[in-house]
Amino acid sequence: MANGLTYIRRTNSAEATKHLAATLAPYVHPGDVIVLEGDLGAGKTQFTQGFAAALGVASAVTSPTFNILLTYPEGRLPLYHLDLYRLDEAEQLEDIGYYELIDGDSDGVAFVEWAEKFPESLPCDYLEVAIYRDPADECARQIRAHSFGPRSRQLLCVWAKDSKSRLQKSH
Ligand code: ADP
Ligand code: MG
Repeated sequence: MANGLTYIRRTNSAEATKHLAATLAPYVHPGDVIVLEGDLGAGKTQFTQGFAAALGVASAVTSPTFNILLTYPEGRLPLYHLDLYRLDEAEQLEDIGYYELIDGDSDGVAFVEWAEKFPESLPCDYLEVAIYRDPADECARQIRAHSFGPRSRQLLCVWAKDSKSRLQKSH
């Protein structure tokens, strides 16, 4: 966690999670990587849908669990939505073009689910967005964004300062 920043926001509905994700879209650059963490049903797909809509993706964004990689080229930047859940070996990452999408030279932004399965294959700079359920409230989520590396730190700073996102700094 050295040098990383953490910002937190609580949402009380799927719509609020989508709205929060939408506020990130204006700030992403080509080559940015967002790693999504959270259990099944946490809200990773909701978050991605809100982000994609704000990026200008008109088509429906679905979970890429069976496809592993879904590409949405029609927004302000291409969106590459990856789900590594069904991959068994790190060698398969090469087959799907994973490294080209996360090495910083990509033309678009990558959203990666289940990246924690292959920790040795994480990029050196990425923004982690972890979504936690609240056992006491079915519609509540804690969304915790943490930067790994200088670019994602900069991205997190501008996102958190957006008056519409209201992310709180965590100490
Ligand atoms: P994942 O992709 O993490 O498996 P999904 O985004 O597909 O999860 O599903 C999240 C589910 O939780 C949806 O049915 C959504 O309506 C519901 N939900 C309830 N409250 C929230 C919230 N605050 N944020 C996100 N999703 C929520
Ligand atoms: Mg999903």
